[in-house]
Amino acid sequence: MLSTSWLPWKQVLQRHPKHTKFGQEKMYNLYPLHCTEILSEFELEIGVVQSTISSSYLFDTYIRRCFSSTVDSSAVLVNLILVTAIDPGIIPRSTEQQSSVEDIGSSSKKVTVNGVELKLKYCRICRIFRPPRSCHCAVCDNCVENFDHHCPWIGQCIALRNYRFYLTFLITALVLFVYIFGFSCRRIGERMSESGVGLFGILRSFPETMTLTLFSFAAIWFLGCLAIFHSYLTAINQTAYENFRNQYEGSPNPYDKGIIRNIKEVLFAPLPPSRVDFRAEAMPRWNREDHENPPHWLSI
Ligand SMILES: [Zn+2]
Ligand SMILES: [Zn+2]
Repeated sequence: MLSTSWLPWKQVLQRHPKHTKFGQEKMYNLYPLHCTEILSEFELEIGVVQSTISSSYLFDTYIRRCFSSTVDSSAVLVNLILVTAIDPGIIPRSTEQQSSVEDIGSSSKKVTVNGVELKLKYCRICRIFRPPRSCHCAVCDNCVENFDHHCPWIGQCIALRNYRFYLTFLITALVLFVYIFGFSCRRIGERMSESGVGLFGILRSFPETMTLTLFSFAAIWFLGCLAIFHSYLTAINQTAYENFRNQYEGSPNPYDKGIIRNIKEVLFAPLPPSRVDFRAEAMPRWNREDHENPPHWLSI
């Protein structure tokens, strides 16, 4: 048996009673990302952190450790860590072996939310009827509550429990890059007047200043569009997934309670506790045919 504390936290534990050579106790299956997926997402995530830190550090050297940029850099990193580190709202899979769609008899149910009828779909992988607004993330291989999207840059689902940190991350990062861009432009202007050279002369003499300026300009566009889009979604209480699918095209959005109440609900309502016990004992998943030959590292 393995303790899950060392495993990638994103792996979800599911309990299935079964008999194996490891005993007749209740065991857990893991539904992990493939190693390559974990690595590529991890690399992207490290890239985001590195670019944020290096830009802010390079920028700090220009303005001699300006207090406000350090505070904003810290806010960006804290929110980035929160988005990636907390459970986004994973719905544990059903533990009942018989709960297949054939046993249940229908692949959909209907519920009424604030007077609007919504269809609940059955997830064959998780063996559950998904609650309204949830979706099965193909990358994480879990059903997630209030699914917004899976962010490949951060390597995490953005959903019920981490959406507010994601939005705060976007806004603080946007402020940081606007700040960097503004001071970089000022610095370029100062150097041009000091040395009397043009823009191409600055590019030759101070390539790092030009690189930082162009990088922060691109980041402002990228983060600005995302921050505006997600602020709009927050105001109308929709997820990006619902918006892209035009979910409420033919009917009113039952979750829309007006801008102020929507913002309060999305950003300030108490977070529900995680449904997943990440400290439970776990068995890694491998092919059933390989049960007789489990991975060598299992005995560690
Ligand atoms: Zn599912
Ligand atoms: Zn995901």
